[in-house]
Amino acid sequence: MIKIENKENCCGCSACFNACPHRCITMKADCEGFLYPVTDVSICTECGLCEKVCPIINRKENHSLQVLAAKNPNNQTRKDSTSGGLFSAIAEKIIEDGGTVFGATFNNNWEVVHKGVNNIQDLSSLRGSKYVQSNIADCFKEIKQLLEQNIPVLFSGTPCQAAGLKLYLKKEYSNLFITDIVCHGVPSPQIWKEYLHSVKENVQDIRYINFRKKERGWADADFIITDNKGNTIVKDKFRENLYYKGFMDNLYLRPSCYRCPARYGFYHSDITLGDYWGIEKQHPEFADADGVSLVIVNSEKGKKLLEELNIQIQESSIEKATDNRNACILNHPRRTIDSAYFWKQYKKTGVAAIAKSLEHKKKPSLRRFCNKMLDRLKQR
Ligand SMILES: Cc1cc2nc3c(=O)[nH]c(=O)nc-3n(C[C@H](O)[C@H](O)[C@H](O)COP(=O)(O)OP(=O)(O)OC[C@H]3O[C@@H](n4cnc5c(N)ncnc54)[C@H](O)[C@@H]3O)c2cc1C
Ligand code: SF4
Ligand code: SF4
Ligand code: SF4
Repeated sequence: MIKIENKENCCGCSACFNACPHRCITMKADCEGFLYPVTDVSICTECGLCEKVCPIINRKENHSLQVLAAKNPNNQTRKDSTSGGLFSAIAEKIIEDGGTVFGATFNNNWEVVHKGVNNIQDLSSLRGSKYVQSNIADCFKEIKQLLEQNIPVLFSGTPCQAAGLKLYLKKEYSNLFITDIVCHGVPSPQIWKEYLHSVKENVQDIRYINFRKKERGWADADFIITDNKGNTIVKDKFRENLYYKGFMDNLYLRPSCYRCPARYGFYHSDITLGDYWGIEKQHPEFADADGVSLVIVNSEKGKKLLEELNIQIQESSIEKATDNRNACILNHPRRTIDSAYFWKQYKKTGVAAIAKSLEHKKKPSLRRFCNKMLDRLKQR
């Protein structure tokens, strides 16, 4: 049975929770707000199924086939998407074929959860990146039921969720398509919840959230929150927003992200989507102020699916795509002393610890010393 002794060894994909035939597993949040499986040993039969579907225990290499830059030719969809709108191009095709698309959305409390939609109107709720770990709940079971009825399904999530789904299903389905994302790592749902409370006490008064709204373009997108009265509560350049900065500075990522089981070379989706940062240098004729997607094709099925879409494509390479700022395509986020500092402060002051930790980072000599010590310890 699954027993999590080291938190780096669970990415929270929920595959074990979905797989357990006796419903012995519940996903419970720890003190950092991340979900982990907890087994009721009194009903566990030790059948071992939960271990067979775990993407950390069953990590497997997989070589990608192609690297492309691509754009959705629909200007409005591209503007409403985080990168070049490729997710929507793929999702629309699946829905036109009578299928269901599973992706990350907000629920009524502005928590991030996975859900399935089967019409174009509802697809907009899945559009756009939500920089919070999403809760899969029992989506994998729902997906299996649809696949068994020969209904086309697209699943879109993080690479570890994609790997968990593949293992959960145990066999290939010709009607299943999986896209995942170039994944920096996922921030804590608890920190997200508390950040939201800090900007609006009653989250029911919030009407709209967009982590990267492209009013001023892809590179200068804004982190926007508005309330029910139409007031703008937060409008920051996304890279300058407090919550986003804490995420990019690895203050509150899930521990497994520092040893991610599903980065480049280990993708189990058909297609991986990201931002093609540096496009103006690598393929200047293809650059676009409203966003360009990085597309990593991981399977023949993914290659064929792309050929059926009405999208603009530019051949590229992994060397070109990683030449600029997108280091996390190949590398895990770096665990630094700042995260330990953050969680220590968080216990005392709650979400005010984000600002305090970012301020603390500005003391370079002390940080350099502590990070060097941490790297040395890791090498032992
Ligand atoms: C936590 C996170 C970290 C990321 N880090 C990077 C990075 O470092 N470099 C990079 O190039 N790209 C990164 N991305 C991917 C990028 O932000 C875009 O999501 C991706 O390029 C797809 O954009 P799009 O325009 O094709 O479609 P969009 O419409 O923007 O994509 C929407 C789809 O992305 C998936 N998604 C959104 N939020 C989540 C979530 N919380 N969990 C699982 N799936 C989600 C959904 O299923 C959703 O339907 C990250 C995304 C997330 C969610
Ligand atoms: S060993 Fe079998 S019964 Fe026990 S938790 Fe895992 S899947 Fe469930
Ligand atoms: S990684 Fe997924 S399958 Fe493995 S223990 Fe964690 S939740 Fe379960
Ligand atoms: S960085 Fe890896 S472990 Fe973390 S959410 Fe992304 S895919 Fe999962």
